Amino acid sequence: MQKTADAVVIGGGIMGASTAHFLAKKGVGKVVLLEKRHLAAVSTGHSAANIRCSYSNPVTVQLALRSFEMFENDREEMGGDTGFRRTGMMILLEEEHVAAGRRVLESEREHHTETRELGPDEIKELAPQFNLDGVVCGTYQPRGGYADPVRTTRTLVRAAAKWGLVAQEGVGARRIRVDGDRVSGVESDQGVIQTGLVVNAAGPWGIHVGRSAGRHYSIRWSREVDLVLRLPEDFGHFPIIADPGCHIYFRPQRQGKLLAGLDYPKEIEPLDIDDYDAGLDANSRRRIERGLFRRIPSLRDAEFDRGWASIYTITDDWHPVVGPEGGPDGYYACFGGSGHGFKLGPPIGESLASIILGQNPRIDLHPLRPSRFEEGDTFTSAWGAGNRA
Ligand SMILES: Cc1cc2nc3c(=O)[nH]c(=O)nc-3n(C[C@H](O)[C@H](O)[C@H](O)COP(=O)(O)OP(=O)(O)OC[C@H]3O[C@@H](n4cnc5c(N)ncnc54)[C@H](O)[C@@H]3O)c2cc1C
Repeated sequence: MQKTADAVVIGGGIMGASTAHFLAKKGVGKVVLLEKRHLAAVSTGHSAANIRCSYSNPVTVQLALRSFEMFENDREEMGGDTGFRRTGMMILLEEEHVAAGRRVLESEREHHTETRELGPDEIKELAPQFNLDGVVCGTYQPRGGYADPVRTTRTLVRAAAKWGLVAQEGVGARRIRVDGDRVSGVESDQGVIQTGLVVNAAGPWGIHVGRSAGRHYSIRWSREVDLVLRLPEDFGHFPIIADPGCHIYFRPQRQGKLLAGLDYPKEIEPLDIDDYDAGLDANSRRRIERGLFRRIPSLRDAEFDRGWASIYTITDDWHPVVGPEGGPDGYYACFGGSGHGFKLGPPIGESLASIILGQNPRIDLHPLRPSRFEEGDTFTSAWGAGNRA
């Protein structure tokens, strides 16, 4: 077990793996990544891992655009394969969602994201299998795609070993040590690591880890599910779909399958993060299938493959808390990605590492600072509060 480190990152999900990767790559020295279970064990490993750019806030649009670049060039940008597949992404808009969809489109146009509005005929061309009753129009982002979240996390960690990143799986951080107004170390299950730099990327447990450094956060947790169906042979191609009218999202999955989950506007389902049922419950399955079969009636006979439940970690405005916040020196937060933190993880880790090292970040993460809540400078969204923020 390491006794000293130049930096300790707590949590081996996408946020921790990415920050640790870029800290090591930028030359911080010895970086220890502590993961109490195994890499990508919680939200990251269960993520649909969709990479999209449908945002109405400048910082998230910039992060999503950078995410496209990073996944499209994963070997150069993240040190290896992430399983990224470009499929395009389409949002289907029924009457009640047209105004919000167009407001988001407007914001994307300002940032040249290449997203465009589609009429029913163009939608039909991209998704001939769909029943488009009720759909007025759509938006389409050609660079949208999905990755393999476990592979992405492992790639980031493995690739950074040569720069001094050491990942300790199965080792939990118990407490951050603070001396005066500075971080001085981390107490782990296997002893103390002395360090002046700690990143709290503990995902759902970020609130507990932060408390040991005297930081307090307002967080809620929600149980979120996905399921996978086997597609009939010759089903054909379709992009990632967000379908607020049917309250679902779905996308192609490798090996002739389809992955689907409940989407905006889904209510929060509180859960005990240390004791919850990680299986797909019958009610959630029914709700996903109801929306899916309305949109694609030919899937009624599709074979069920598997399903699961995992955790959204939700801040008061559904955006992650990232960065320093007035002490203790050497402590940084990086968690709270709710349902959109996978795609944001790599570009956030990259820019956070620059900020920690006193360099100019590629993207200014100031809007994500944890103190935004006390300052009344929180995010709003064209969709209203929620995962589509
Ligand atoms: C069903 C579902 C679908 C999703 N779909 C998408 C999507 O399509 N696109 C998208 O962008 N996002 C999506 N998300 C959201 C995204 O997956 C999360 O926002 C992101 O993975 C959060 O990453 P994280 O690193 O903050 O947390 P986690 O992945 O939860 O990682 C935190 C890690 O910290 C470890 N840990 C905690 N406490 C300690 C400790 N004391 N010591 C050591 N280790 C500790 C945990 O074991 C865990 O592995 C989805 C999420 C879910 C649940």
